[in-house]
Amino acid sequence: MFKKILIANRGEIALRIIRACKEMSIKSVAIYSEADKTSPHTKYADEAYYIGESPSSESYLNQNKIISLAKQVGADALHPGYGFFSENAVFIKEIEDAGITFIGPSSSSVKMMGIKTAARQLMNQHKIPIVPGTTFPIKSISEGLEAAIKIGYPILLKAAAGGGGKGMKLVTTQNEFASSFESAQREALKFFADDSVYIEKYIENPKHIEVQIFGDKLGNYVHIFERECSIQRRHQKIIEEAPSSFVDDKTRKKITQAAINVAKACGYYNAGTIEFLMDKYSNFYFLEMNTRLQVEHPVTEMISGLDLVKEQINVAAGKELSFNQEDIKINGHSIEARIYAEDPENNFLPFTGKLLEFLAPSGPGIRIDAGFSRGSLISIYYDPLIAKLAAWGKTRDEALERLKRALGEFQIAGVTTNISLLKAVCNNINFIKGNFDINFLEKEFANEFQGKTASSDEIENAVVIISSLLKVRSSSTEIKNTLIDNNKWTGLQYE
Ligand code: ADP
Repeated sequence: MFKKILIANRGEIALRIIRACKEMSIKSVAIYSEADKTSPHTKYADEAYYIGESPSSESYLNQNKIISLAKQVGADALHPGYGFFSENAVFIKEIEDAGITFIGPSSSSVKMMGIKTAARQLMNQHKIPIVPGTTFPIKSISEGLEAAIKIGYPILLKAAAGGGGKGMKLVTTQNEFASSFESAQREALKFFADDSVYIEKYIENPKHIEVQIFGDKLGNYVHIFERECSIQRRHQKIIEEAPSSFVDDKTRKKITQAAINVAKACGYYNAGTIEFLMDKYSNFYFLEMNTRLQVEHPVTEMISGLDLVKEQINVAAGKELSFNQEDIKINGHSIEARIYAEDPENNFLPFTGKLLEFLAPSGPGIRIDAGFSRGSLISIYYDPLIAKLAAWGKTRDEALERLKRALGEFQIAGVTTNISLLKAVCNNINFIKGNFDINFLEKEFANEFQGKTASSDEIENAVVIISSLLKVRSSSTEIKNTLIDNNKWTGLQYE
């Protein structure tokens, strides 16, 4: 077994991994940037090293520094968490070549699944249903127009290298195609340094259902049931649950088998998630595979009793999976809500600031994964996730009641959060009945929470606050442009 694991991440997921290391008597090494100097993950790890300035490119995405640090401190394995380097095949290869075990899949599996068009081709070869559309990037407007007519409007233009809900454009008529295509290419280039764009049929009102799978290096595969992740804003999840109340046993059998087939198709080992869109008739279509631990893994842990991070570490060390398919059963129901520092009343504008108060809920059936404590700074550089709140109950109703109770116990001061929106979702009759799809927020809260666009005064205020809080070197114009940019944030958010 490993003696020392370097955790190439920050925030709640770094703490989650350090906790698993402690329980396994493995030494943990944290890294931190300037903005994270006093973050809880630096204190909780056995060792912590400064890795660079606050922008991710200089710290958590500084490949050379991370690899040489891992060697220097004698780490025999590296856990990437999610985001940052977790799905970067080039980095994983470098780690493998440096003789350090990567706690995740092989670089070749990651590469196969990293480009959506290539993954779609692979699925076709293995007869796994994909969302109708092209399996190659579109080269010209005329080629795209021809393909779109065959597929049928509405269509989605998607970045082949996309992620985090970015680089997607809905096109409802032929007239919009040319301008949307050009802007999709520009956005893809900006976010993913690759302007390849392809077409998918826009599925009307589907559910987002994903399957947790696990493989070991000995060729064993299992699934750990599905998660329902349809409650999203800007194509990013905010509430996830397991199991899905919509999926019956027959569909569960089919979708979990399809997920295992996907994993086998790319020779996968370690934890992975296969995402599908499901229509109202329970037809499902492969969307993508996330080749890493997922943000929402706690709901799977709560209904299965497994520790996915420990399992990841064991499998990476070459051990056999600690359970068979027959050993695991769905026990009860779990729902997770992501607590973000953002204003749901104001276009989900992210908030930065010091957490002047941070008291998290507890009590029966409640789990909190937080990367912050009172006094922590929510900075402009990273994902504005403050904490994940997961509730477990014997039934979905009990899990929901506990979630509502716990949302009411949060005491957070210093930043605006999305808790008001999460409470409203939990009290919504269609959510309570399990009657929802990916357009839930737009449909149910058409006049609330969709947000007005921030006024210029509000933007000016935010700029003043951010500059003074962070003493950043960027000019106020740069910060302002960041705020009024489409995505309003420099940190990537995770699916
Ligand atoms: P990303 O990798 O950027 O997260 P995904 O392909 O995983 O993108 O899709 C994210 C979300 O966008 C989905 O959960 C769903 O809500 C929506 N979406 C993606 N593709 C389609 C589609 N073809 N039709 C309808 N909605 C879609």
